[in-house]
Amino acid sequence: MPTAPVLSCCPRPDEPRYLPIRGHTVSDMEVRYKVVASLLAAVVGGGLLAGCGALESTVAEDGTVTAAGPPAPAGGCGGPVKTVQDVEAVISEPAGCPGAVNTYWAKELGDLWTTPRYVSYRDGEIPPIACSEGETDPAAFAGNALYCTLDDTIAYSVDFMTELHNLGGPSYPMFVVMHELAHRAATLSDREGVVSRAEENQADCLAGEQARAAANADRLDLGDALSGAQLFFSLGDTRDRGWFDNETATADGAHGTPRQRLQAFGFGYLRDSSTCYRLGESPTGSVLF
Ligand SMILES: [Zn+2]
Repeated sequence: MPTAPVLSCCPRPDEPRYLPIRGHTVSDMEVRYKVVASLLAAVVGGGLLAGCGALESTVAEDGTVTAAGPPAPAGGCGGPVKTVQDVEAVISEPAGCPGAVNTYWAKELGDLWTTPRYVSYRDGEIPPIACSEGETDPAAFAGNALYCTLDDTIAYSVDFMTELHNLGGPSYPMFVVMHELAHRAATLSDREGVVSRAEENQADCLAGEQARAAANADRLDLGDALSGAQLFFSLGDTRDRGWFDNETATADGAHGTPRQRLQAFGFGYLRDSSTCYRLGESPTGSVLF
């Protein structure tokens, strides 16, 4: 038996683990991946989604980030999300650009936030990250995206991102990255959810908040923002009976049920980060207050 990395979820700060966007493959979500020459696939060849190379820009030139956020960089910032290149801008721009994720997190975490490192891989490959050490089955990573706490890396399957893009346009892969960034933020600030499902609900919620920040900066239109709720619904856990199922909140890789994930994203979009961190405090992974 190969030694599997710790898939389980339940955040235990001192324990190596990785946090995927979904805990398992939902049968009705399964898609036969057909990596067409989509725009995303073209962009991932050389841009953000190809890996960390395009993301080496720093949060702030001098390394300092104030609570109010740094000014917009002189080089200018991108516009509304219409294409994958626009998503790349939202994800990779330095803090200071309105609606960019680094701007959001720099305001939230100050100096704790640094430029994220991304690693892409194809389905069938084992991503070159610390969390994959000892893993011999590529299926463990296929069709997923994750945050690895061991080397502070966000890894994602290009095939999965392409699938999402084909399903819901460029904002879909962006929401997935936002979710993983929320795991990273929780780790950096030591505010991880108390059990797996709570951590996941918190990350979904914080993805919603990042989406709202992008929308407030006129980089995401309302329709695309609302579609994020649909995406998280589709990625929800449906093990056992599905919906409010029998799976415990502390089960390996437990995520919110479809309805919980939709609600969590909506809370983040409509409320604030303190609401999200309250979701993270639920020992049952509840999204009810
Ligand atoms: Zn997650």
